[in-house]
Amino acid sequence: MDATTLTFYGGVNEIGGNKILLKDGKAKVFFDFGQSFTMGEDFFTSSFGPRWICGLKDYFEFGLMPKIKGLYSEKQLMYTDLSYSRPSFDAVFLSHAHFDHTAHLRFIDEKLPVFCGSGTKLFLESMEKTTFTPLGEHPYQTFRTGDAIEIDPLKVEPIHVDHSIPGAYGFIIHTSKGKIVYTGDLRAHGPKREMTEEFIEKACECKPVAMISEGTRIVEKRPRANYSESEVKEKSNEIVSGTNKIVFVTHHGRDIDRFRTIYEVAKQNGRKIVIFPRLAYLLKKLVEDEHLDFPDPLKDNNILVYFRRKKTGTFIEEDYYLWERTFMQRMVTADDVRENQSGLVMDLDFYQFGELIDIKPDRGSHFIHSMSEPFSEEDIEDQVMHNWLNHFKIKFHQLHASGHMSRQELMEMIERINPKKVFPVHTENPAFFKKTKKKTVVIEKGKTYTL
Ligand SMILES: [Zn+2]
Ligand SMILES: [Zn+2]
Repeated sequence: MDATTLTFYGGVNEIGGNKILLKDGKAKVFFDFGQSFTMGEDFFTSSFGPRWICGLKDYFEFGLMPKIKGLYSEKQLMYTDLSYSRPSFDAVFLSHAHFDHTAHLRFIDEKLPVFCGSGTKLFLESMEKTTFTPLGEHPYQTFRTGDAIEIDPLKVEPIHVDHSIPGAYGFIIHTSKGKIVYTGDLRAHGPKREMTEEFIEKACECKPVAMISEGTRIVEKRPRANYSESEVKEKSNEIVSGTNKIVFVTHHGRDIDRFRTIYEVAKQNGRKIVIFPRLAYLLKKLVEDEHLDFPDPLKDNNILVYFRRKKTGTFIEEDYYLWERTFMQRMVTADDVRENQSGLVMDLDFYQFGELIDIKPDRGSHFIHSMSEPFSEEDIEDQVMHNWLNHFKIKFHQLHASGHMSRQELMEMIERINPKKVFPVHTENPAFFKKTKKKTVVIEKGKTYTL
């Protein structure tokens, strides 16, 4: 009988970039196929990347992608020394839509089916459209909690979890050697914590032989102010209700739970929220899935859409992409924002700070930095951000809830699920998992482990 094996091509000694191959009998399935946040930084910079036209060639040159036969698309292999062959894998399962779990799908053979939650599908479609990051025309199949996908002899059960993005799942995988639990990314302090709890309960019941667990926060580099999502809401509300100035907020573009929090705070203070067309487009997509319950930017009067000057600089329709034009019925410009500062909360990320020059916020306005603090004190972007805020006399607030479990929550989860073996992924500190007293396999990239 064939062995049941796990091979980790990414997410090894790093946060993100998960690429996990499970083989069982004739089944060969990947769980996630993301890009690591630090990928290629020894050879490339943020403004100098691998040559797009050359497909995988530049990636292979520096060993940035594994050379696996029967996995990649013909186009991506065109200039490489790896010859194309028909896919010898069955499927890719995505835990959620974050870049570090999905971005390298673009290299994969377009014949390979991709299974994901419907929220993930909507997210990816929106990102492809608004950020020009094509992932290829894979045959997608969406799932929900309660479904079971059979890829003989495997059976894969997706179960929803709470993370910082809707449509996030963990998996229970039935193999011929017993059950494997894969957490994806998850947290226990978010607005949908009961979903994570449900996942943990199901994982306990299945008595897994192995657990592949994320470990983003198993050790934190330096103490960070971390709140729960409801604390972020409470504290943002204190800021918004205590001022008659405009409040700017920045959060990760895909951290749509944070948008919801800020939207609710704005609404309960009788303010409208100003968002950029890209977020409006994403919301419009997510409205298609009623389970996700997001406001419709074209129907909800609390939402306004900010248009910055482009091309002619006169805000005519032709200046904008077709997908942006839909939102012109909700259009506000810098002038509108400047004139209505006390009635607005504005979603403004660092790369749009130029707009502050036109908006001319009143002295003593507020800025909520609702994402994680920079990793080092010398972070250039962080310094530049503070220079801008100081220039405009805007008060800075740090308010963030992580999308990941704390160390204690992780340890408790593993204790409860009680797997025979733990394979830590998505962590810089896999050895720390040994503290759980469970057999911990400190994985190596590309090495195959037999169950
Ligand atoms: Zn991740
Ligand atoms: Zn994630």
